[in-house]
Amino acid sequence: MCGIIGITGNNNVSAELISGLTTMQHRGQDSAGLVTFKDKFRLKKGGGSVNSVFKHLDFNNFEGHCGLGHVRYSTIGSTDEVDAQPIVVNYPFGLAMVHNGNVVNFNKLRKQLYKEHHRLLETSNDVALILYTFASQLELKNLKKLSVDDIFDAVEAVQNKVLGAYSALTIIANQGFLAFADPHGIRPLVMGRKYTGKGVTYAFTSESSTFDYLGFEKMRDLQPGEMVFIDQNKKIHTRIGKVKKQAFCVFEYIYFSREDTVIHDRLVATERVRMGKQLAETFKKTGLKPDIIIDVPNSAYFFASGLAEGLEVPYRRGLAKNQHIGRSFITPNQELREKVVKQKLNPILDIVKGRKIAVVDDSIVRGTTSKRIVTLLRKAGAAEIYFVSASPPIKHPCIYGIDMSVKKEILAYHYSVEEIAKYIGADEVVYQSLEDLNEMYSDLPICDACFSGNYPTGVSKELLEEIEQEKLNSNRV
Ligand code: SF4
Repeated sequence: MCGIIGITGNNNVSAELISGLTTMQHRGQDSAGLVTFKDKFRLKKGGGSVNSVFKHLDFNNFEGHCGLGHVRYSTIGSTDEVDAQPIVVNYPFGLAMVHNGNVVNFNKLRKQLYKEHHRLLETSNDVALILYTFASQLELKNLKKLSVDDIFDAVEAVQNKVLGAYSALTIIANQGFLAFADPHGIRPLVMGRKYTGKGVTYAFTSESSTFDYLGFEKMRDLQPGEMVFIDQNKKIHTRIGKVKKQAFCVFEYIYFSREDTVIHDRLVATERVRMGKQLAETFKKTGLKPDIIIDVPNSAYFFASGLAEGLEVPYRRGLAKNQHIGRSFITPNQELREKVVKQKLNPILDIVKGRKIAVVDDSIVRGTTSKRIVTLLRKAGAAEIYFVSASPPIKHPCIYGIDMSVKKEILAYHYSVEEIAKYIGADEVVYQSLEDLNEMYSDLPICDACFSGNYPTGVSKELLEEIEQEKLNSNRV
């Protein structure tokens, strides 16, 4: 999972791109990168947070009225700097690209690119596959100047060859700015604009809240298979390329996106309250009577408030959080994740002691955080602990860019709800039901593969095993 931003306007864009990236830091902390274009590409990227990578950037030497920014949470490839984005190629045209998502048929494409186009990848980052496939298609045209149709045909070829989830942004040197989505529209991408004294500036980003900070007006979400090209006169061209059934990642609403982001006309905070209220209906069926509802800060607050409202039980903040520790879910390996959880949360004694507590979290994946939280609450004197997951049981790995890791680490793949309760030490575990979740999104087709195992792109057992092995070989498990 990553955060991307691209701006094409009439002033230097580097400062605005960096500001935008800081609003998406939660989408990835492994690396950050920036490219701008004026006569040539200017590229800066490195491992770490936005602030650390761009601390000494000289804006005067980083000119360009169009540019791209990226924050990375690596789900494929390494966490090394060489795999940071953006990436740039200079043949057959100057091209720079960033993407958010995950390519599934990585090895097949890699071999194909070498065999058919003699292109070797120097990185294990999957954006290189998308960029090289795009560049190879342009190369086949053998042109000096591209038409919009040439560009869109090349994107459509990418959509036909590249299996997976991808929202991508591309600068085509001296020609324009391109954005496109995969055929299922799995990852978010929004388009916006603002007017300055010099005319209109367009931008694309993973989260609409970035536009709020930068003063852009959101125009719309890109649709599955859609491509948008903005030429040098700022004229917008669009085409719907290869389209399959929409499968928007529901985990963007559950966990990944900021609460102030709007995706497909739904505010994330409102969605989480709605899920909390739905959970209340499931919870009522258990006959459990909690004294208070608490949340695992910060992403579970809105679920907890919806659950509290639905159950008519008071919500309290029962866990204090050290705000200076990163998100444990996107920390690259188990050892680091456990360390982060230990330093992150502390129970608020008078609120917790002697009470029956329903503690709400967005999900239970590996159970590391859940187990630690239950232990903390027990030590603080909680009478009973009901662990509530706002998402249904996660039983399958995500192959589209969210690091749920490998099957052996996923609790609900191996264990029943009762066994999970026992493992994490809770009196009961209550999950959102998958049927309810699908019912809630009956008007927005979602991907629910991590719950159901139904991967929208289709994926063979052999390919799943290959992805699993790739993951085990990486340094992220
Ligand atoms: S498998 Fe789950 S996390 Fe991955 S894209 Fe689908 S809904 Fe999102």
